[in-house]
This record gives sequence, C-alpha cells and structure tokens, in this order.
Amino acid sequence: MESKEKKNYRAELTGVFGDPVDDNPTGVMEEAAYAARGLNFRYITMKVTPEGFPDAMRAVRALHMRGVNLTMPHKLNVIPWLDELSVAAEVIGAVNTVVVREDGTLFGENTDGKGFVEALLRAGGVLEGKKIVVLGAGGAARAIAVECALAGASRITVVNRDEGRGRELAALVNEKTGAEAEYLPWAGGIDVPGDTDILVNATPVGLAPLDGEMPEINYDTVLPSMTVCDVVFNPADTLFLKEAGKRGAKTVSGLGMLACQGARNFTLWTGEEAPLRIMEEKLREEFGL
Ligand code: NDP
Repeated sequence: MESKEKKNYRAELTGVFGDPVDDNPTGVMEEAAYAARGLNFRYITMKVTPEGFPDAMRAVRALHMRGVNLTMPHKLNVIPWLDELSVAAEVIGAVNTVVVREDGTLFGENTDGKGFVEALLRAGGVLEGKKIVVLGAGGAARAIAVECALAGASRITVVNRDEGRGRELAALVNEKTGAEAEYLPWAGGIDVPGDTDILVNATPVGLAPLDGEMPEINYDTVLPSMTVCDVVFNPADTLFLKEAGKRGAKTVSGLGMLACQGARNFTLWTGEEAPLRIMEEKLREEFGL
C-alpha cells in the first residue's frame, strides 16, 4: 500500500515583543521571507508591557515558539530569562533576538550591530584598522560600536549629548574589545575629526515624521574620504546622508542594516539562508521608495 505523508497544519511562531510596537516594520520583511522560502512560519507583532513581560516569556515556551525579537523596553529585561548569550550580546548588554533551541533552551543574540557591519561590508566598506565616529550612545550606538570594534576597527569615538552615557560606552569598548575608544562631548555643530574613516548617525534624528531634521554637526568637515552611515531607515535617503553625499562622501542607508539584521534573525530561527534581496525590496515597497 502507498503510504501518504502526514499533513502538518501547525505554524512555527516567531514575532516581536515591545511597547510601543505598532510602527515596527520587521514583520513585513520576515513574513515575505517565510513566504519566499515556502515555510509555514508566522511573525506576529505583539504589544507587551513590562508588567506583562514575564507572562509573555512563559508563552514563548508554552506556545513552542521558534524565537522572538525584543524591542523597547525589553532588550535588557529579557537577559535573566535566557540560558546563554552570544559574545556580542554579553558585551553589549542587550538582546534583540531570542532563539528557542530544539532542547528548549533560550539563546540571546544581538543582531543590530551585526546587521550594521554586514550592510557596510556589502556596500564595499572595510572595518579593519578603521577610525569610526558614532553619533549617539543608546542601544543602536552600543551595538554598532561594539561590533565595529570586534570586527577590527582601531578607534571608536563616541559623540553624545549625555556625558555619562557617552563615557560609559567608550569605557565599555576600551575594556571589552581590542579597539581604542574616546568620548567627545556633543556641543552643537561639532567638527568631524579629519582622520575619520566612517561616520555613523546612531540617533533617531531624521526619522519620519521629523525627517526635516539632521544631526547637528559641521557638515563642511565631512570629507570625500569618509563613508557616512545612518541607522534611520525611514526615509532611507535622510538629510544627513544627502548633506554628506554633497561633500563627496560615500553613503550607506539604515535600510540595509534593517534588512541584514532581519536576515540574520531569519537564519537563526529557520536554519536557512535568508532571501535578503526580497526582504530589502519588501521594505522599500512598504516605505514607498
Ligand atoms: P535610544 O533611545 O537607546 O538612544 C538614542 C540616542 O540618540 C541617545 O544616545 C540620545 O542621546 C541620542 N539622541 C536622541 N535625540 C537626539 C538629538 N536630538 N540630538 C542628539 N542626540 C540625540 O535609541 P536606539 O539607539 O534604540 O535607536 C536609535 C535609532 O536607531 C532609532 O531611530 C531606531 O529606529 C534606529 N535603529 C535602526 C536599526 C536599523 O536596523 N536600521 C536597528 C535599531 C535601531 P542622549 O544619550 O544624549 O539622550
């Protein structure tokens, strides 16, 4: 007798926990990637408050989820729930991706900085021995500064308004990586040091609907020898990148970083290579680019 293959109607669950989370576009690219690979996976965007977070983490196990992204305000709260952290997540001190392994243990990774590094390398950038200036010292800046240092950058300069946060990030890079780091206070219209190779806006300045704004630096100190990157992905072509482009600098948008970190999450959860181009196209379509 011919044996029929047993049907499996059960969906593999992934998603994001955050609050606010309504405007998080990650699900659009992850669902497009699942469909492109013919996987019965779902990505659900879920509002989870700090009070509800313990129940949400118990649900990760109860629902046999494959993994989950964490966004504000859970990137730190999640750590006590995890069995193991990646080296970068441990140094950065924040997790944006949880992977549920087959044995049920939970692994924490931070794909924000890795997504940045990958997008930069794909755009032809190099990190080995390079001098990086990071504007900002929040979650994205921490991830970017640490991953650039771990990828071989020689110097990280942190420019931030809040001195405590800026100094803390510089100290972290000095202590935990092979790069040298320093803090520069952000007094409006700051000059970019002339020997900078890569300048990164890791603040939300320029994000729609405030896309008429740009970080307060002296744009005439941006040189054609510099690569200038933004974490802001909507719009992709920020005023910051436009002004840098006018000075002859090479520019890299935050859209590539978002797609690359999404692709890493996809691979961590499914074990398959991510359809990066499809993910990027879906984001462009979503933002009307
Ligand atoms: P945080 O709130 O953790 O940090 C924000 C940082 O920006 C702080 O250092 C803050 O400085 C600084 N900042 C805020 N407003 C200004 C301003 N007007 N002038 C100068 N500095 C300012 O945010 P995140 O790091 O989590 O996120 C930052 C941005 O990165 C967001 O727009 C987010 O969407 C984007 N992002 C993009 C990703 C991608 O894949 N492309 C991934 C992750 C984040 P201070 O310390 O002085 O208050």
